[in-house]
Amino acid sequence: MNHDTICALATANGIGAIGIIRISGDDAIPVSAKIFDGKNLEKAQSHTVHYGFIKDGDEVIDEVMISVFKAPKTFTAEDSVEISFHGSPHIAKKILEVLIKNGARMAKAGEFTMRAFMNGRIDLSQAESIADLIASENEASRKVALNQLKGGITNEISFLRTDLLNFVSLIELELDFAEEDVEFADRSALNQLLDKIEAKLNSLIESFQYGNAIKNGTAVAIIGKPNAGKSTLLNALLKEERAIVSNIAGTTRDTIEEILHIKGHAFRLIDTAGLRETADEIEAIGVKKAKEKVENANILVYLADAATENFSEDIEMIKSLQRDDLKLIICATKIDEVSPTQYELVENIFRKKIPQDFDFITISAVENQNMQDLKDELSSYVEQLKSEESNVVITNQRHFEALGKSLDAVNKVKEAITFQISTELLAYELRNALEHLGEISGEVTNDEVLGNIFSKFCIGK
Ligand code: GDP
Repeated sequence: MNHDTICALATANGIGAIGIIRISGDDAIPVSAKIFDGKNLEKAQSHTVHYGFIKDGDEVIDEVMISVFKAPKTFTAEDSVEISFHGSPHIAKKILEVLIKNGARMAKAGEFTMRAFMNGRIDLSQAESIADLIASENEASRKVALNQLKGGITNEISFLRTDLLNFVSLIELELDFAEEDVEFADRSALNQLLDKIEAKLNSLIESFQYGNAIKNGTAVAIIGKPNAGKSTLLNALLKEERAIVSNIAGTTRDTIEEILHIKGHAFRLIDTAGLRETADEIEAIGVKKAKEKVENANILVYLADAATENFSEDIEMIKSLQRDDLKLIICATKIDEVSPTQYELVENIFRKKIPQDFDFITISAVENQNMQDLKDELSSYVEQLKSEESNVVITNQRHFEALGKSLDAVNKVKEAITFQISTELLAYELRNALEHLGEISGEVTNDEVLGNIFSKFCIGK
């Protein structure tokens, strides 16, 4: 394997108290030693830190601390060095230049992690989880990525794959004794194993919906007629005056997608910008606009002003937006202005006219009444996506696709057994299933897939 020495800035590119440059490869230590004025790094013990200066010939570039890590107990499983310097982008550039002058080369995107994978220190799903961990912005995504880094998905699958591999060996043995018509592989035991694998795959595939909610947040559309209280609710939820509230319809012109965090989960409030249209627009393109907003939403929060008399337009709007996979929450707003009898009446009207199952909540954003009910309702949506059977959650599209293909392959094997097709074909289908199962951990892979995964990493990772 190519162990040329690579270097890159590992910290964010900008000004900071400290910046770190990482070097890895066969010559990581001698190359660093050449530019370091301090202890002889080639004689340093592994996992030690040394004070000194980085020099380009006679010119001192910076005062630094250098950490030395010797293979194999390093991130890449190669000799590695980390230089902690004063965090200026200019110094970083000069140190990288002098490293390159002395025999290192700039690392490509994700190359450190790719080496960790290539050198067998981590499997592919763990490598991917490093990218997820760095990108995590909330508790739930951090926990899921960390679990995956510890080998979560691979652990769930690898022992089933090993059992399947044993069957493949037995089936292939049968092929060697084809003349004698013997069965080494117990078909009913194989079927049982396939059922087990199928159940596991199904539960992992199902967890993707939750995984998606964790990774990308849950999309929430807030819809309602002008003056229903959308901006006020939004402000109350976000507790900051981002959207401009007024009783003149059409003042909200902010185009930011707001993120709301509830119990460690992210909710993306869709297109709060277009929250308000002018009255003309509402009549002309109201439904069309609302439909666009709801298109990619998981949850529709429909606001209806409890103080109004007629809800027929609201009902029409909700009916035209209805979709099986859209959770509907109808929210009667401004309840501080009406009596409980009135909003009970409002609920009855909606219950009578809307066939779809929905949650009904009454709120006053101005007086901060029942706001928690709405938050609980949003968070219960995410909670119910959680699988009870498995702690492992799929968040990665590639894993999701590989699991789907594995499931298809497993079903083909089952069919092959049911229809008692030839042992050759059965062996072929089994190999196919094994291959797909191996794609997740990277036991089976190709350069294109690897290139695709690691190119999405940033340089220095
Ligand atoms: P939007 O057009 O749906 O965004 O509605 P706004 O949030 O701008 O609210 C329209 C008007 O209703 C404003 O004057 C708000 O102060 C008022 N409003 C909104 N929510 C409440 C509420 O919970 N109680 C009361 N009393 N007034 C509210």
